[in-house]
Amino acid sequence: MKPWTRPIALGAVLLLGLAPAAGRGQEQEERFIRIDTLNVRDTLYHLGDGGANALALIDEINGGVILVGTKLPGWGQPVLDAVYQVTDLPVTTIISTHADLDHTGSNGEFPDVVEIIAHENTRANMGRMELFSGGAPGLPTTTFSERFGLLEDLDRIELYYFGPAHTDGDIVVVFPQKRTAYVGDLFPDKAAPVIDTANGGSGIAFPETLARAVAAIDGVDRVITGHGPIPTTYAGRGRRDRGGRRAWTGWMTWDDLAEYADFNRDFLASVRASHEAGRSVAEAAADLDLPERYAAYDMERARANVEAIYNELAAR
Ligand SMILES: [Zn+2]
Repeated sequence: MKPWTRPIALGAVLLLGLAPAAGRGQEQEERFIRIDTLNVRDTLYHLGDGGANALALIDEINGGVILVGTKLPGWGQPVLDAVYQVTDLPVTTIISTHADLDHTGSNGEFPDVVEIIAHENTRANMGRMELFSGGAPGLPTTTFSERFGLLEDLDRIELYYFGPAHTDGDIVVVFPQKRTAYVGDLFPDKAAPVIDTANGGSGIAFPETLARAVAAIDGVDRVITGHGPIPTTYAGRGRRDRGGRRAWTGWMTWDDLAEYADFNRDFLASVRASHEAGRSVAEAAADLDLPERYAAYDMERARANVEAIYNELAAR
């Protein structure tokens, strides 16, 4: 599906990328991945640009790097270049949070990868994509249906599945010791989500799936969205909450995820009411009855989502 686009950020990247190339008389666009540390032990990093938010965990014990999400096709080498700025270890493992190309497109571009982990529905969705057809590399090699865990102690990663939402294979990736979760396109940003119905997404199930995630997982302070910006400075340093834990200033929190579940529930309730009243999609989209606390949400996808929910209601 159409990746989320950020015209301003992308423009900045292109300017930075083109300037040195032009100086050497090359016409080829250079691609950069920005890399930012996410913890004090320097083992978890955020990878920006080139598609969705992605993460890299340096696993010193087993001697490999785990990527959570890759990028659009053609961005594997820039990701490797960024990772090699902080470690000599090879990328051996990929976790794909769902099938979309802005999260999986460069899955096949990492020569040392031995395992790609995803939900079983994501494996099925990716198997239908042209990029991964005909024996091309990048398909998940390990799948699960509800929960999956890897690594231990400080590096521990837990994967959870709660049902259909953006697709039918979205997972939550929790780093329990880092009190951090990556939620992919279950929570892309404070915006109406993409409902990828071609990959089993559901606007009716979306709020329930999010509510199950909110209820089931404890101990996360910092939420990394699929597409939202991350704080540009390392704001956690020196700040502690009353429990003595690091305070992640400027990051999305578990409360933001809970609010996002409420937003999707309220959105669905408004669309259902319009559907029952016999209003058209256009009328339902124009008349969305949402609480004031979502005033800052980006509603660009609202009409498409009303239509997706209407189609789901009609199919019942
Ligand atoms: Zn995405």
